[in-house]
Amino acid sequence: MDSTPAVDLDLIRRYNQPGPRYTSYPTAPHFSHDYDATDFARDLAAADTDTPLSLYVHLPFCRSLCYYCGCHMKVTQRADSIQRYVDALKQEIDQMAALVSAERPVVQMHWGGGTPTYLTAEQIRDLGTHIRRRFRVADDAEISIEADPRGLTEDRVAAAAEVGFNRMSVGVQDVNRVVQEAINRIQPTETVAQALRWAREYGFEGLNVDLVYGLPHQTPERFQHTLDVVDRLQPDRIALYSYAHVPSIKKHQRVIDEDALPVPETKLRLFKQGLEHLTARSGYRFIGMDHFARPTDALARAQDTGDLHRNFQGYSTRADAEVVAFGVSGISQLRGAYAQNVKALPAYYEQVANENAPTVFRGVRLSPEDQLRRHVIMQLMCNFHLDKAAVAERFEIDFDDVFADAWARLSLLEADGLLIRTENALHVQPPGRLLIRNIARAFDAYCDHADHPVHAQTV
Ligand code: SF4
Repeated sequence: MDSTPAVDLDLIRRYNQPGPRYTSYPTAPHFSHDYDATDFARDLAAADTDTPLSLYVHLPFCRSLCYYCGCHMKVTQRADSIQRYVDALKQEIDQMAALVSAERPVVQMHWGGGTPTYLTAEQIRDLGTHIRRRFRVADDAEISIEADPRGLTEDRVAAAAEVGFNRMSVGVQDVNRVVQEAINRIQPTETVAQALRWAREYGFEGLNVDLVYGLPHQTPERFQHTLDVVDRLQPDRIALYSYAHVPSIKKHQRVIDEDALPVPETKLRLFKQGLEHLTARSGYRFIGMDHFARPTDALARAQDTGDLHRNFQGYSTRADAEVVAFGVSGISQLRGAYAQNVKALPAYYEQVANENAPTVFRGVRLSPEDQLRRHVIMQLMCNFHLDKAAVAERFEIDFDDVFADAWARLSLLEADGLLIRTENALHVQPPGRLLIRNIARAFDAYCDHADHPVHAQTV
């Protein structure tokens, strides 16, 4: 598969408009309070005993605030607060394990945040062991943890390896001091390099580095320096995220000097620079939606075989697993439903203390049509290809009949070279990979297509 989409800035400008990222379908704004913890418990129990599980654990605490942060997190220096949360998580895990068949294999687990590595080595070991006692974690499970190089210590990495972690995602963002000062995240490159050395020493097989473009004081020259440093770090995967400056929603972003932010045109050029460098020079494959991987990496291989999947943690190789989330704000993804846990810590503690897990407060049960459209949208988002006959057979539908409107919406995108439609299939072309959200949106029944034509911030 050709891994290098051409970056046509005119095309990107034309299609650049706000839209869903399709980590779920229906997307989170369509979750409702009508779907509650009782519904989720029932749906969870309904799965076959051989349906694999993917566990997500949200650890919201951070030592200090990065001004660009868009995550669900809480800054604290109180060790007792973190211990209280770990204790509650263990209780929640016990309560949830009672609802899930003990035979279901856990093929994937991810700890996200916040800063999971803000836990002490002892807490990482304790929580990891606890999960393994309650669930049947497969020998070849992919187990990943998000790490903040600042504050990461060798004993934490050793503890993570001891309880089975084999993938680490390290937040780098930008290596230039002036940028780091502006976002309140000072981390010398040697700190990052040490984090990766420890991970490799302790046998982590897959290392991911996160970068962000569009940050204050980023220039093409400074961004190039970041890309060159990352080349030397040689991660297996890279995520290149766009900074979303939304101070009306994320109040702490008001601290960022807006005059120091790259203007939209510069931001677009930073994206082009990053994409071209990572693919053409560094040899990564553009997987889709911010993600790059070595051609030999499992993500790239899964894309080759059409087995790539997408969930709230991004891309995944474990397509058939149901995601069960623990901790505040975590989102579970079952075959037929999505469910989000309560976001506030007091509410979470109260529910767990009352043995009220699942701590779900909203969600959505998917109709048969939602499941069909989710499948189509995820095929496009992950594998850049749609086989009409395969969809028709799987869902027992007449594809042309059901998707007549969606198919018609694609004409303009086809004329712009984003895709090719044949009688039996839709093939996304290299320029379309960068604009895959626009293509997927044609199949989104919740989108008001009259108000939101395909043209007009996708990057
Ligand atoms: S470490 Fe991550 S989650 Fe915590 S404040 Fe910084 S960006 Fe946000």
